[in-house]
Amino acid sequence: MYITPIQEIFTGNCKDNCVNIRGWVYRKRTSKKTIFLLIRDATGIIQTTSKKGTEAWKEAGKITIESSLKLSGTVKEDERAPGGYEITTSKIDIIGLSETFPIGKDQSEEFIRDIRHLWLRSRKMNLIMRIRSEVLRFMHTFFRERGFIEISPPMFITSACEGGATLFRTKYFDRDLYLTQSAQLYSEILIYSLEKIYTCAPSFRAEKSRTIRHLTEYWHIEPEWAFADMDDVMKIEEELVSYVCQETAEVCRRELEELGIDPKKLLQIRPPFPRITYKEAIERLHRKGFKVSWGEDMGYDEEKALAEDFNRPFFVHDYPKEIKAFYCKTYRDRPEIAMSVDLLVPRVGEITTGGAREDDRDELIKRIRESGLREEDYDWYIDMRRYGSVPHVGFGLGVERLLMWMLELDNIIDAIPFPRSIRRSYP
Ligand code: ATP
Ligand code: MG
Repeated sequence: MYITPIQEIFTGNCKDNCVNIRGWVYRKRTSKKTIFLLIRDATGIIQTTSKKGTEAWKEAGKITIESSLKLSGTVKEDERAPGGYEITTSKIDIIGLSETFPIGKDQSEEFIRDIRHLWLRSRKMNLIMRIRSEVLRFMHTFFRERGFIEISPPMFITSACEGGATLFRTKYFDRDLYLTQSAQLYSEILIYSLEKIYTCAPSFRAEKSRTIRHLTEYWHIEPEWAFADMDDVMKIEEELVSYVCQETAEVCRRELEELGIDPKKLLQIRPPFPRITYKEAIERLHRKGFKVSWGEDMGYDEEKALAEDFNRPFFVHDYPKEIKAFYCKTYRDRPEIAMSVDLLVPRVGEITTGGAREDDRDELIKRIRESGLREEDYDWYIDMRRYGSVPHVGFGLGVERLLMWMLELDNIIDAIPFPRSIRRSYP
């Protein structure tokens, strides 16, 4: 028996045909002569009607919200129905009768988070998860079309990439290891063989403060490639973000519109993105009344305020080396400045950090020492600079930060099915 995906009915091709659908009861309303069941499957939601006196009416009467069922009936065009089509039911087979579903209208945010395993059935989460899947696909396509090879980095690591404060330590047999914060140091190994690589993997950060843009486990897209400079980093980043926005606007038009997002907004995202230096960013912030001084890192409030000037993605580059990681290359004629660049977007702030990596062995050792790290923890990383070192660059993009911006989400937790934060690791 052919099961029609609900979305297919809205193409108009099933008009006046008898169809079989399968799914769950989304809403139920009973009038004197008709029971209206809204049925959802993975692809969409359709209204069905069961008339009084029929077999279908009896089954529809018993059925509860979120019960699973198979339903047969005739597709009718009806402008009063959501989407313009409905099904006149001839037969209902209840598959799994649902107990009273705990999610109704006006539930608190906390409650919704406690029952995430049920909330993920909501239309909103269904749409976001579909778009997330497509956004990941677009990113893979983007890199593959440009000759980047995907590699799989380790999750257990021995030394920090982004600093000790947010490292998760974990028992590993008789010793301690850490959960990875970034694939970068390992990715750098592979460029000596594959030249252009990228990873799509989780990163773990022990973020102790609660914010709307930090998770303790997030998905990280990290390309790394050889024989390239700062300009190459910014070019690839703006091309990537623009490509993902364009494709999403085209391919996910229906999902975006149902979420209340105008696809035109994403279609407007095109290269080049404005570029300002850290120095200019500080000057702009001073004019806005912020007290941040040269050498200080920008926080969320500063990033948001700065983004108001642009109202689109933009780059901030050339940071003081003190606020950037030890592996950042510095300008030979300006040793206090790191070749590091962040991509910022309105409302969310930073969505990527990237730049050139120190490729000179002696400089690298100097930077490791200056940063208060132990040289012996980075033996293999330093070793790579001894055998045919090359200028190379890379960046890291937080998938959920990107989605949070594209889909105008209030909180990063809705960009991932099972968000982890300092307070939450359930379900
Ligand atoms: P922030 O300053 O916003 O905490 P960061 O500079 O520490 O971020 P990076 O080490 O530069 O983060 O990581 C690269 C990218 O990974 C960031 O630009 C961001 O998109 C994403 N990212 C970093 N930390 C988190 C997190 N805790 N949750 C979600 N995404 C994150
Ligand atoms: Mg950063």
